[in-house]
Amino acid sequence: MNVAQILKQKGNRIISLPADARVGEAAGVLAAEGIGALLIMDPAGKVAGILSERDVVRAVANHGMEAVALPVTEVMTANVIFCKPADSIDALMAEMTQRRFRHLPVMDQGRVIGIVSIGDVVKNRIAETVAEAESLRQYIAAG
Ligand code: AMP
Repeated sequence: MNVAQILKQKGNRIISLPADARVGEAAGVLAAEGIGALLIMDPAGKVAGILSERDVVRAVANHGMEAVALPVTEVMTANVIFCKPADSIDALMAEMTQRRFRHLPVMDQGRVIGIVSIGDVVKNRIAETVAEAESLRQYIAAG
């Protein structure tokens, strides 16, 4: 199983906000969409950064109520790490564990074509493990 197969199942929807959005708006979108991170796009349509719920929590911890009025560009991570459609689930798990984040946008030929979260990775890993266990069970039962 790789990233392309995960996207085939979950689709290519990318939720984003423009770089002039405020943290309060970003929190509203995260809550309404039930997601943990969104991409911040510059006026040219390029990825300017990624903003996750952790960034919102940190902003509130550091700035209190004033956090909601901050520009998203002040609290996002500008140095975005991407994955590729051909990357394996194991490679994504390793990347997320090592870098301590839970979201990887997918870059294909200079275009972002989706986002994979740790939830997608775990769901697919469990499905694979269940399928492996079932085929082993059948192999043993067949004697
Ligand atoms: P997360 O665990 O994904 O909620 O994010 C934890 C921290 O890592 C936050 O500061 C995010 O902005 C940042 N982050 C999340 N995903 C990425 C990514 N793909 N590339 C760079 N930073 C990220």
